[in-house]
Amino acid sequence: MKRQAGPEVERLIQLLGKLPGLGPRSARRAVLHLVKNRDKLMAPLTSALADAHDKVVECHICGNVDTRSPCGICSDPRRNSGILIVVVTIDRIQRGGLSSVRLRAPIARTRCS
Ligand SMILES: [Zn+2]
Repeated sequence: MKRQAGPEVERLIQLLGKLPGLGPRSARRAVLHLVKNRDKLMAPLTSALADAHDKVVECHICGNVDTRSPCGICSDPRRNSGILIVVVTIDRIQRGGLSSVRLRAPIARTRCS
């Protein structure tokens, strides 16, 4: 028997279920958690999503996400603009301390089979 929780909740479940790593069951659990924590979590999340929608862009140089393009990494004058390293995720490299060169996320990931 399929659970029905009202069209608004079902729409949220459907939308969250499209996120990477969230299937329908995880999305349902997340939505129920949001509904039960409406003031503490749903309202700030709603605001943060709207804010990100309005302000976050993809850097035209490296593909990183930031509130400006070029992003903070590409705008950093301390980085060597003559060296470009293609990485899977920029944030992991950043945490690793590779901060003297410019980084570029791949345009499209290929799946190995
Ligand atoms: Zn960039």
